Amino acid sequence: MKGIKVLRVAMIVFLTLAFGTGAVAQQQQQRQAQPAQYRHEPAPLTLEKIAEGVYQVKGGSGANAGVIIGREEIMVIDAKMSEESAQQMLTGIKKISDVPITVLVLTHSDGDHVNGITAFPSDIKIIAHAETKRDMDEAFKDEAQRAYLPRIKTFDTKSIEYDPGDRKVRLLYFGPAHTSGDIVVYVPDAKVAFLGDLYFAGRDPLVHRHKNGNSFGLVNVLQSALALDAETFLSGHAEAATRADVEGMLRALQEKQDKVKAMVGEGKSLAEILESFGLKETPPAPPGRTRFMNLVEVIYLELTAK
Ligand SMILES: [Zn+2]
Repeated sequence: MKGIKVLRVAMIVFLTLAFGTGAVAQQQQQRQAQPAQYRHEPAPLTLEKIAEGVYQVKGGSGANAGVIIGREEIMVIDAKMSEESAQQMLTGIKKISDVPITVLVLTHSDGDHVNGITAFPSDIKIIAHAETKRDMDEAFKDEAQRAYLPRIKTFDTKSIEYDPGDRKVRLLYFGPAHTSGDIVVYVPDAKVAFLGDLYFAGRDPLVHRHKNGNSFGLVNVLQSALALDAETFLSGHAEAATRADVEGMLRALQEKQDKVKAMVGEGKSLAEILESFGLKETPPAPPGRTRFMNLVEVIYLELTAK
């Protein structure tokens, strides 16, 4: 295991990207004019080489994104949370390859993965699961963002294959998990799988009940992802993970489900169950905001739903 980690670290190349446009420079000046305690500078955007022609985009605003370079086309996975960060990402990709950026895959519909969509050329091909497009159609109010909706090609079958030139990329759907439209992007020749928000490190996985996510579905999806011949698992909010890392998260999730199930079987209330985990019930969200429940509440509701 150690050998793999050392090898991976040796393969990592960081490319810090220069800020590009005048608008960005202006926004930076505005931020610098604020007192230090109000500045929330996102980390600089970097492209980390994971395998030949496969990069993880970190920093900037929003979740990690991915880049897969084929002989004829570049596929970007997820669109960052702001147009500014997505623009920096596109500028960065152009510095490492002359191949045109033609296709954007969205792993799911959360704003930190899709809101930067307007930075992409208006003729970009976009691929997402049908459920993801439906969620975006609901969430997008801005006309500039809505203009991209008709471009989204959806699929609702188990998988589709995309060839960006001399390599295969498989887009796999294993059912509801983090949301109801999560896609795993698998690059067999690099043994890399992009998991979107199906994997988290150092915290419980997030299951969006308001988007029909499901923790038991997440177990199934992680098992399916682990059945792929992949060695590196990339995700929205963590460092590159190993197979052992993903197995560890899966085990912890299943242990939590088992414990909640046993307590529900003993007739314990949600409050009692939460207390045994040292947790409290999530307070109601302010109007217009989503209430993000903790994993124990999600599991409890799944087990007790009529
Ligand atoms: Zn998410």
